[in-house]
Amino acid sequence: MGRSARMGCLAALLATLAGCGEPVGPTVVLDSARDTGPPSILLVTIDTLRADHVSAYGYERETTPHLDALAAGGARFETAYSVSSTTLPSHATLFTSRYPDEHGVTKNGVALPADVPTLAERLSAAGWETAAFVSSFVVERRFGLARGFEHYDDDFAGADHSSALRSWQGYELDAPYDRRGAETTDRTLAWLAARKDDRPFFLWVHYFDPHSPYDPPAPHRGAFLETEDRTSPRHAIDLYDGDIHYADAELGRLLEATAAHAPLTLVTSDHGEGLWDHGWLEHGVFLYEEMVRVPWVVHWPRAIPAGRSIPGLAAHVDLAPTLAGLLGQPLLADPRGRDHSAALRGGSAAAPDRAVHLQRRHFDPMRRGHLRVAGSKHAVREGDWKLILSPGEQGFELYDLSRDPGEQDNLAGLRPDVVERLNQRLDGWQRSQRVHTAAPAAPDEDAQQRLRALGYVD
Ligand SMILES: [Zn+2]
Repeated sequence: MGRSARMGCLAALLATLAGCGEPVGPTVVLDSARDTGPPSILLVTIDTLRADHVSAYGYERETTPHLDALAAGGARFETAYSVSSTTLPSHATLFTSRYPDEHGVTKNGVALPADVPTLAERLSAAGWETAAFVSSFVVERRFGLARGFEHYDDDFAGADHSSALRSWQGYELDAPYDRRGAETTDRTLAWLAARKDDRPFFLWVHYFDPHSPYDPPAPHRGAFLETEDRTSPRHAIDLYDGDIHYADAELGRLLEATAAHAPLTLVTSDHGEGLWDHGWLEHGVFLYEEMVRVPWVVHWPRAIPAGRSIPGLAAHVDLAPTLAGLLGQPLLADPRGRDHSAALRGGSAAAPDRAVHLQRRHFDPMRRGHLRVAGSKHAVREGDWKLILSPGEQGFELYDLSRDPGEQDNLAGLRPDVVERLNQRLDGWQRSQRVHTAAPAAPDEDAQQRLRALGYVD
């Protein structure tokens, strides 16, 4: 069904609550869509979506009209971080409110340990019907995020896909590595149309399209393409923006189909994307802003006034406690993040002393073909300052993000006082971490394969 036909169908649905030639959902107002009681919850993660390429976050191109409209009708966090710059650790943080060392998934390809409670488990136990539709092998059920979901759709066999990967992180793939957003949306909508459950739902939909290779389908491919010169950095950026535009269109279809349930909707990304800001394409190497700043929009007219823009710092460890605050019931015990529900409801924002911590594995030396894991890279942001600590010679980097948002001017040598203060804060945070020691061993890693899989480009 084309967009205009879908819009016509939506109008007809709103006007008459009648069908449009195929299943379109309820003919009465669902219990979960009423003004009281547990709401349905929709969590959407758009993989690899850096915040500053989202038009709701000020990007000059209109890449995300549907996400923009959602933000206009709800709230957006002005400065949100993904905690890590890698897919599985970041999603594991979203679902556990723990940092990677504590949930045990410090890299892709290892499973979330079975003893770490998840949001889906808790919502399922509390009476929500749980379902997930994902779009990449990276979050396939074997890696543990399926725990707590009654229905987990990660079947990519025969899927329209963009990646040519046939092996990844030591795993041989018997199906495509990914699938395009349209198929994920179609399968989600089919599940919604067929469900007869009286419970509210917790639905997680994961789109992978902005992830490399940048290969948006028509008409999104041409949405921002200004050059066909494949050697031009502009070419990759234009196609990346086209992929975002495509994922946003799929988000639009999903929002339209779920609207009758009046869900509490959260949309974010698992990490950003380097576009040669620091000499590298793609993600997973650094903790610079382009790789860890993500959009985070929350929409729930029942409790959140339209057009809220929440200042201060937010991070993915905050998602579960914020959701718990909005629902008015505890979900995960001892969350590591903050509850922003009061700010979302119209109150004051988070305390200004809030710091956000970031971590990922460190590669050294970072030259093509010579990636070697060498400990962890950590960072802390407090106010406008950001300190990055890398093992080895790289040492400290200190940036004043108010003056230098692109992190080009390392002030570590000029401001040893700030370095010392933030390093103490980082050190205290690291010592407070209860490192999960039961993480399973990773499959044998081959540096070249990992390099290809992550798609690093010098
Ligand atoms: Zn990702």
